[in-house]
Amino acid sequence: MKNVHIVPHMHWDREWYFSTEESRILLVNNMEEILEMLESNPEYPHYVLDGQTAILEDYFAIKPENKDRVKKLVQEGRLIIGPWYTQTDEMVVGGESIVRNLLYGLKDCEEFGSPMMIGYLPDSFGQSSQMPQILNGFDIKYSIFWRGTSERHGTDKTEFYWETDEGSKVLVQLFPLGYAIGKYLPEDEEKLQERINKYFAVLDRGATTGNIILPNGHDQMPIQKNIFTIMEKLRKLYPDREFFLSRYENIFAELERNQELPTLTGEFLDGKYSRVHRSIYSTRMDIKAANTRIENKITNILEPLASLAYSLGFEYHHGLIEPIWKEIMKNHAHDSIGCCCSDKVHQEISNRFFLAEEKVDQLIHFYKRKIVDSMATETEQDRLCAFNLLPYEREDVMTASVISKLGSFKLVDENNAELEFEVLDQEIMDPGLIDRQIVHYGNYDPFIKYTIQLKDRIPAMGYKTYFVTESDTEVRSSESAVDQVETDFYKITVNPNGTLNIFDKKLNKRFSNILMLEDGGDDGDEYDFSPLPDEKLIYSDKAKADVNIKQNQFEAVITIRYSLTVPENLDDRKNLLANSSVDVQITVTVAHHKPIIKVAFDIDNHAKDHRLRALIPTGIASSFSVSDNQFGSITRHVIDEAMDIWEEEDWDERPDSIYPMLTYAGLSDKEYGVSLLTNSSREYEIVGEEYDTIAVTLFRSVGVLGKENMLRRPGRPSGIKLPTPDSQLLGRISLDFSLLIHSDSTLKANVARMAKEYLTPIHFYNKIPFNAMKLNNAEIKTPLSYSFLNEVQPGAVLSTLKKAEKEDRYVLRFYNATDEEISASFEARHAVEEAQLANLNEQPMKLLKVQNNTFGTRVRTNQVRTILF
Ligand SMILES: [Zn+2]
Repeated sequence: MKNVHIVPHMHWDREWYFSTEESRILLVNNMEEILEMLESNPEYPHYVLDGQTAILEDYFAIKPENKDRVKKLVQEGRLIIGPWYTQTDEMVVGGESIVRNLLYGLKDCEEFGSPMMIGYLPDSFGQSSQMPQILNGFDIKYSIFWRGTSERHGTDKTEFYWETDEGSKVLVQLFPLGYAIGKYLPEDEEKLQERINKYFAVLDRGATTGNIILPNGHDQMPIQKNIFTIMEKLRKLYPDREFFLSRYENIFAELERNQELPTLTGEFLDGKYSRVHRSIYSTRMDIKAANTRIENKITNILEPLASLAYSLGFEYHHGLIEPIWKEIMKNHAHDSIGCCCSDKVHQEISNRFFLAEEKVDQLIHFYKRKIVDSMATETEQDRLCAFNLLPYEREDVMTASVISKLGSFKLVDENNAELEFEVLDQEIMDPGLIDRQIVHYGNYDPFIKYTIQLKDRIPAMGYKTYFVTESDTEVRSSESAVDQVETDFYKITVNPNGTLNIFDKKLNKRFSNILMLEDGGDDGDEYDFSPLPDEKLIYSDKAKADVNIKQNQFEAVITIRYSLTVPENLDDRKNLLANSSVDVQITVTVAHHKPIIKVAFDIDNHAKDHRLRALIPTGIASSFSVSDNQFGSITRHVIDEAMDIWEEEDWDERPDSIYPMLTYAGLSDKEYGVSLLTNSSREYEIVGEEYDTIAVTLFRSVGVLGKENMLRRPGRPSGIKLPTPDSQLLGRISLDFSLLIHSDSTLKANVARMAKEYLTPIHFYNKIPFNAMKLNNAEIKTPLSYSFLNEVQPGAVLSTLKKAEKEDRYVLRFYNATDEEISASFEARHAVEEAQLANLNEQPMKLLKVQNNTFGTRVRTNQVRTILF
């Protein structure tokens, strides 16, 4: 007898081609029907709320009076909630974001009852290789998903173990036909049989036990009220099968008995049986870049800074930080961050990012101000404070603003040592902008806003203060115009077309034509890039660039401006017209003492239906690339062998090697490597005849949500055929990257650490006697310089430093992105009595040895570790 588990559920895309406002009305309607069915019908045992608590949050915002009804059903194990906060994407969303999605999702469940302990992501567009580790970090041992696998990964079965390199493991139940095969099951027996026959053939083939799942639900589908009638009919049609209403946990109980399940590793990004949309990573680059930037600000700046402040006696504002995470995690739902939505919904998403970023920026400002305002000084002298939020002392070239009425000033540290600095810019500032009370009392004397540059060593996970004092010598600048740049690491020249030639002095190697732009047609939709057949790509090789190079004692800045002529739209491109343009400004900034070359793109796009990429030739003919995913690295072939057979084998999408990254992508051989570090775009492809060039997508312009019969994706449209003019991305967009040339391989050089450093800039606070927003002085007195924590040896990449959600301890999370096991240990600059290894849910697991306030652990390749102290 075969068991058919019918699992009632609804897949809840909060927004997609419809807005959250629209779906919320349906939600209130559907929830009442679900609650009523469960309450009035003991034969209807379970209902799964899509594995996400945002549904509950949305519902209780409208119906808080129903909390007790929900609680009762959850505690009876009938309404099944959690574990996620939203149905997260796994490709362009960072590790901390996925961790918080479970952390806050599970936390939301607490007041109701036990959550579903299954990593349920039935619709996410591909599966990250690190998911088993993240799930295990929350004591979750099971996983359900649909998209991305094929027998190429090692089995044609739909049940298997999925392991990571560092040893985490989950038991997977695949949905080979998706989560919606049991949607709106018809009462008409012929139609029912016709549909079910097709499903059973596939499900039986993949099953390793006598149990299969028929998920009874669909996107925003209301509860199927006649399910008992349907089940009667199914029993009649298939007398050799047992049909019953069930929950997903029941299937895993059966699978656990099977000793012979295969074990798979790695990420699942195959578009053979399901669409994974390899290239969705670059849709609506404005939104994608905002996500990258804001994730980095929260984990790299805000949380460590709040922890510093907490260590000095200030409150850690969980109540302000959790809503920031929730704001961006609403956007991390697969359709939302995929940006395969209507223009209206993208406005809502952008607005959430706007709110999240404003909250982050203001809270960062508040914490810096609290610390600097409370310094134990004898004078009320103006001061400038530099914050380094990495656990090692760092020498850096830093740019800061100083606002003063002084016509000339010097910077003096607490030991009275004067620090040299450059003035990059000065502008007159109306005093009303600083505090309108100044003007109110009749003082109209302007302030001067100086942009200055300095170079110094800033303490590990701490800060250093400079006093701004009057000086007789005029503020100065050593800046001069030059023809080429020379730093400790590089000689850089600019070609007439705006590309760079970089000579690496240590490697004695020349890299030419760096940052050539490549423009091609995009006949795709919001889900997928799709090229025109036999298209001749346009390059910036003939561009005539305006180039300006300046260099001072600390760094060089190269400004490159040109206009790239391109066709206005797809038809014009087919007719080889050159009637539109993309205006490009590239600002390259190189400090003398560091190998990181910062590249900022400011683009004004006037054309439609195209994709613009920047090319970084490395001279390394490669068969694979290395980039990062959550808490580790991932190695991928530069070309998928299925490119030759995908049509023959009838794949759902062409397997181009267009891949996601989080903070870097690189090519290397044993001797050296070149990497792209990113604070914006998270999409790359390795191109060139020798596969020696990193192509980073700057943006894609498309005008429709879903299109049919695309070159890279034959068949039905994904989503719906809705025009989305905003996705043409006409207008301005800014994108930030860095380039890094290094010796050794990408992993040996620990490029992930360099990326983290690039993404954790030194922050400044300038205290002056005026501020429109008044604060009373705190009782706390803070030191003039401070260091909270120092790593004992370099190696691990810091993920974040925060305060634990539920106790008065710190959470320090870090990972090993190299290919060898490492030791990571940290010395706190205050008394540490106890340190414990914890899981990702911040629950202590094992006591660590603490000696001289120092504690640590071994970290395997691609392993993430959390220490509570
Ligand atoms: Zn979905």
